[in-house]
Amino acid sequence: MSATPTAPAYDDNNVFARILRGEIPSKRVYEDEFALAFHDINPQAPVHVLVIPKGRWVSFADFSAGASAQEIAGFWRAVGHVARQLGIEANGYRLLSNIGANGGQEVPHFHVHLFGGRRLGRMLPKAPEEGR
Ligand code: AMP
Repeated sequence: MSATPTAPAYDDNNVFARILRGEIPSKRVYEDEFALAFHDINPQAPVHVLVIPKGRWVSFADFSAGASAQEIAGFWRAVGHVARQLGIEANGYRLLSNIGANGGQEVPHFHVHLFGGRRLGRMLPKAPEEGR
């Protein structure tokens, strides 16, 4: 089950569930009772870290609908803490979360991408039908 009718059931074998269980290695940068942060395996910026909640949430849609207030607050506080710890706060950074098919979500465990370390440019690439 997931907390929203549009989210699929949580898959306990997704790669981030396996990272949480320690079955797959990761370059961890932070962990507390609510969240784990580790470097993305295929970085898109000089700093590219993923922050995931400890709970079994498929996506932000699922998390925001079903997680407790304590989990939600703890998770987002951890995201801010990780950015500060990584030293990207002063020059700015970007948070991104992909949800479902249109969002291009590949791993079905809610995660926030933290990008920093350079000017990140426009927010979204043009859609193919927009041309140029
Ligand atoms: P998304 O498209 O938002 O679901 O992003 C999934 C992200 O997970 C991608 O940026 C991948 O590079 C990253 N990723 C996949 N497998 C691993 C892994 N084992 N360790 C770290 N990052 C991973």
